[in-house]
Amino acid sequence: MSAPQPAPRDASALAESVAHELNNIGASLFGFVELAAEAASGRDGEAAWLGEIRVGVQRIAALAALLEALAGTRGEPVATTLSECLKDGAAAGDYRLDWRCDAATRVVADAEHVRRAAKILVRTAPVATQTEPSALVVAQLADDASCLTCGAPLRAGDVYMDGQVAIDRAAAAPGKPTRRAETALRRLVNDASSHAAHLAGGHVCALFGDGTPALVLRAVAAHSSTSRGK
Ligand SMILES: [Zn+2]
Repeated sequence: MSAPQPAPRDASALAESVAHELNNIGASLFGFVELAAEAASGRDGEAAWLGEIRVGVQRIAALAALLEALAGTRGEPVATTLSECLKDGAAAGDYRLDWRCDAATRVVADAEHVRRAAKILVRTAPVATQTEPSALVVAQLADDASCLTCGAPLRAGDVYMDGQVAIDRAAAAPGKPTRRAETALRRLVNDASSHAAHLAGGHVCALFGDGTPALVLRAVAAHSSTSRGK
């Protein structure tokens, strides 16, 4: 008999473990960068160096999220509620939930995969500090749209989740030049976000001019509660 082939999910679990380790390293570095930034406050040169280190650590976190997304297998979307999809991640401190629609809204999704995709959105948002979990905005689309990746139609009332709103308020330094490495990484992260969204049974749409994708879950129409959507 030939040696047993490792099952594909072993590679997936391995990639997840690597991502987990990268995250731990990133979280630890973030803590020290913030401490050093406090100690260096008022000294411009050192603050600028620490800013560079912070950008590097954010890249590590983004790559970890990317790896985790690529390790994922396709979920099994069913009719469920937003609360069901997001409560475990919130309880684990992956994100804070900023509800702008009813948590009982029914959507078609794989709950565990939504949690992962949401974590990616929040973790890859370039927020200024990691001292508290970032907010995940949960709201309904005001207008029809289409998926950025696969072109599937999205309807007003479908639910979007976005971790980027926090940046606009908290960390977007006006006039900060975009570096080429950042652009390339952002593109990778956007692709990974889209991949994770589709594994969860969702889609992506752009809510901001920079093309950053938000995760979109199809709402279950109130009059067709038996529908599993498409
Ligand atoms: Zn799609």
